[in-house]
Amino acid sequence: MTSKMLIIGNGPATAEAIEAIRKFDDDSTITVLNKEPWPAYSPCPLALYGWNESPQYQEARKDWAEKHPDERVPQMLGVPREGLFWKGGMEFYTRHKVDLRLSTPAKSIDTERKVVVAENGEEFEWDKLLIAAGATTFWVPIPGLADARDAGLAHAFKTIGDADEVVAQLRDPDRASKKALVMGSGPIGIEASETLRGWGLDVTMVELVDNVLPVMTDDDSSAILKKHMETHGGMRVITGQGAKEVVFNDDGSLKGVVVGDLGLIECDLIINSAGQRPNTWLCDGTDIEVAERGGILVDRNMRTSNPDVFAAGDLSQFFDVVGLQRMIPLWPNAVVGGRIAGFNMTGKPVVNKGGIDANAVNVFELPIAAGGSPKAEHDETLIGRNANVWVKMYLLKNIVVGFTAIGTVREEEMNLDAYNLPEDQLEEIKNAFARSRDREGAGLEGNGIFYTLLRRKQELTEEMKDLIRLGDFRTGSFRALFAIDQHDFVRLPERIGVRGQEVYPR
Ligand SMILES: Cc1cc2nc3c(=O)[nH]c(=O)nc-3n(C[C@H](O)[C@H](O)[C@H](O)COP(=O)(O)OP(=O)(O)OC[C@H]3O[C@@H](n4cnc5c(N)ncnc54)[C@H](O)[C@@H]3O)c2cc1C
Repeated sequence: MTSKMLIIGNGPATAEAIEAIRKFDDDSTITVLNKEPWPAYSPCPLALYGWNESPQYQEARKDWAEKHPDERVPQMLGVPREGLFWKGGMEFYTRHKVDLRLSTPAKSIDTERKVVVAENGEEFEWDKLLIAAGATTFWVPIPGLADARDAGLAHAFKTIGDADEVVAQLRDPDRASKKALVMGSGPIGIEASETLRGWGLDVTMVELVDNVLPVMTDDDSSAILKKHMETHGGMRVITGQGAKEVVFNDDGSLKGVVVGDLGLIECDLIINSAGQRPNTWLCDGTDIEVAERGGILVDRNMRTSNPDVFAAGDLSQFFDVVGLQRMIPLWPNAVVGGRIAGFNMTGKPVVNKGGIDANAVNVFELPIAAGGSPKAEHDETLIGRNANVWVKMYLLKNIVVGFTAIGTVREEEMNLDAYNLPEDQLEEIKNAFARSRDREGAGLEGNGIFYTLLRRKQELTEEMKDLIRLGDFRTGSFRALFAIDQHDFVRLPERIGVRGQEVYPR
């Protein structure tokens, strides 16, 4: 039987849902309503895109290309615009027979008539609906901020459009930005700061709470990061103080921002990265249940309280790996949620085994990965460190319930002998590590390793703990993984990716 499948939003949850639907259903129509004018793209490398055109990085790329004439320029030296379109642009929609409506935001949902009304008044019918419209930047209601936004002097940093606006301001010789103030120290604020530093601006970051990157750090790890951002990143980082008011010069240009009890901090550009709000307003007036101050509630099939409506991605509130229903606004959860929703829209009853709160950010070349929660019940805290690595793990009965890992294990510190692997496999692993270190943000794979430990609820032995205490979290945690299934070890990248979550129906 053919159905009308309608999807609101066009992020990773949508792309995955499209692929899942087409895996089993070639005949139903799929229509996607997208507020933005672009096909699916990833915002994750927006900082790398933002500094791609800066004179400093153009110079760095030229240097690199001269030194390595036969190799591809590493991602860390900038991502061109086309590099953001991770599904390959419009061809993806043609191949999957999708009617993609760009610049067509949904305005309301009518679950009785089974239609979505777009802002332009057009109505779209559906048999099955997926809401995957993500979140929108929250503009803190302090005096002057909305005026600065409307004058093009304050920007968000969430979409390609936002990054384009920032770059346009940086490129404009008449505006000649020199000093920026970034509100909020989450991953988006940090990444925007890197773009601005890449363009040579003085950057001050203002964070209301006491820790930088507050969702991922505790006091100790925050202190390490803050120092790194100041010394290595060359920024000023203010914590425990909020932006209170935006002040303008008589000619309408920015004078600065009043911050806590520090007074006016001068700037000519503001980045607002103080938070996101899920677009759950789309469910107003419907029977689709939304948690108070939370997301659209979904079951393990990503189905909402209306049996023909599904939700996935940043606006959904789903079950995590320990069974709590919560929002985890991260890429892997959007991918898995979208895929599961897609399968269920075709009638395949696939379940989500639980999302994981684990993220990784490269902060001025210093990788930090964090997952689980230090607030989860734990009976042991394991701290490991050496010259290059700092790691804290929270354990309950020897099982990891939370972690933060900062830094990179150098190859010479790795205890690969502990694996007792054949020579060719050892070589393969060393090469893989070397590649990830040189190209993709060294050390971030620590996140994947711990992620798997969290998901698998793998018990750590005393030997593994000793390795981790020495700061060799890579060997220690690989050892733990290795204990799970030695033969699968060399296929680790597949296993720690979303495919390892066994969401494909068999
Ligand atoms: C700068 C940045 C860096 C990030 N880095 C990481 C990272 O390193 N790791 C990680 O795990 N996560 C990262 N994230 C988060 C990750 O990108 C999100 O979790 C993920 O994109 C959420 O996917 P989604 O499918 O819910 O929708 P989104 O990607 O949020 O997309 C929502 C879509 O809905 C559309 N839309 C909104 N309203 C409407 C409407 N009314 N009608 C129609 N369409 C609408 C939007 O235009 C957009 O296409 C980052 C996010 C940003 C902004």
